[in-house]
Amino acid sequence: MPLEENDSLATIGDKGRRLWLYTDRVWGTWLKRRAVVSYLLFFILLLAPWIDINGDPALMFDIPNRKFHMFGMTLLASDGLYLLFVMGFVVFGIFLVTALFGRAWCGWACPQTVFLESIIRPLETLIEGKPRTREKLDEGPLTAAKVWKKSLKYTVYLVVAGAIATTVVAYFLGPDGILEAQFDPFSHPAGTGFFIGITGILFFDFAWFREQTCVVVCPYGRFQSVLLDADSISINYDEKRGEPRGSKRTAGAGDCVDCKRCIQVCPTGIDIRKGVQMECVGCMACIDACDEVMLKIDRPVGLIRMASMKQMEGGARRMLRPRVFVYIGLICIVAVGLFVTLSKRKELEFTLARAPGPAYVEMADGVVQNHANLRISNRGDHDHTINVEVLEPVDGKIVVPGIPVIVKAGQEQRFPAFLMRPTPKTPDGKSKFRVRISDERDFEQIIEWNFLSKAQM
Ligand code: SF4
Ligand code: SF4
Repeated sequence: MPLEENDSLATIGDKGRRLWLYTDRVWGTWLKRRAVVSYLLFFILLLAPWIDINGDPALMFDIPNRKFHMFGMTLLASDGLYLLFVMGFVVFGIFLVTALFGRAWCGWACPQTVFLESIIRPLETLIEGKPRTREKLDEGPLTAAKVWKKSLKYTVYLVVAGAIATTVVAYFLGPDGILEAQFDPFSHPAGTGFFIGITGILFFDFAWFREQTCVVVCPYGRFQSVLLDADSISINYDEKRGEPRGSKRTAGAGDCVDCKRCIQVCPTGIDIRKGVQMECVGCMACIDACDEVMLKIDRPVGLIRMASMKQMEGGARRMLRPRVFVYIGLICIVAVGLFVTLSKRKELEFTLARAPGPAYVEMADGVVQNHANLRISNRGDHDHTINVEVLEPVDGKIVVPGIPVIVKAGQEQRFPAFLMRPTPKTPDGKSKFRVRISDERDFEQIIEWNFLSKAQM
């Protein structure tokens, strides 16, 4: 059976050869709405690392210093729990939106769609013209005009890729770091390598890979079959109304005039009339295109529309269903978890944990020593001078080299700590230590330590 009839991927031909799409653009109601959202998201993405809040970027993943700046809050390496809650919130949020509105993420917010549909395709149309003109240009001989247009197009793609990559790297190096790296590439070899890598990947995506990212690479598309059900909204062709397709004048023909306009504007090249497909990214271009045709032939719009499978079969859509409640429940759990942990978050936090190695060491003078690691997290905006002392037992002692120490604002530091006392006379060798860790003002934290030594039978 020929591949076309075998319902193969629209962009992959015989022997796996890539079929290049010459997608047309339709400036309809949905595209206008999507354009507003896309440019807003693009604006936020570009600005976030350059906005200063309390001396730090609004968003920055400072990997070398193990810090994450998020809208005025600084999370340290020991704050992984908050990030876990935030991630949970985002993931369950996407599950909920998908269950309710189908692939809204892909069509409206995914960076791939935003970059490609709102920036790259308009630029391509501006430089090379409409689909048929582009196709003729590609098939035609290598003329001076072709060399000029292609060079201009790829240069513009490279500039856009470089601008986006600069912003992406700024999320990791911060505004000063990225400017330093751009003016002196050898000052930040990792950042420069990252910038070149991202620019290269984006350029490859814009110039050649395009819809293959959604069709072949993106795992989210694969999850659709488990995230969607018959009540989820998707882009649907009304088969009852549209079939049998044919000319407007044919007696008994449905509303679809088989103009194929919906296929021409589809960024993944699919024919939505074959039913809901994995390659559909929910961009709604086919809705705009078909509505335009329907208005021209004086038929009601909505032959292709957003609806649930149940609605397409004439039933009513059920918004509230078990999976929606489960996702809302999970979102509430992570939201409460995040709220509770954030409300308990302290500016200064200390942890004393047993160090790897023997549980205790007996020294020649009869003193027993436990080896620990002291971690001091300063999440505030000021430096703190930290001191450590033993409250109990009276013969106990703690030695932390370097203490009292200044821990800088937004820093987390680790120190070795040695807790010591003469061999305690307890049958199981265990005794309690109470360690007070304080700053130069009035902050203090008391930590209880289970001191281990040899059992005294
Ligand atoms: S755009 Fe509408 S009328 Fe034209 S082929 Fe597609 S569904 Fe049929
Ligand atoms: S089928 Fe329609 S909504 Fe889906 S990707 Fe193609 S144009 Fe966009």
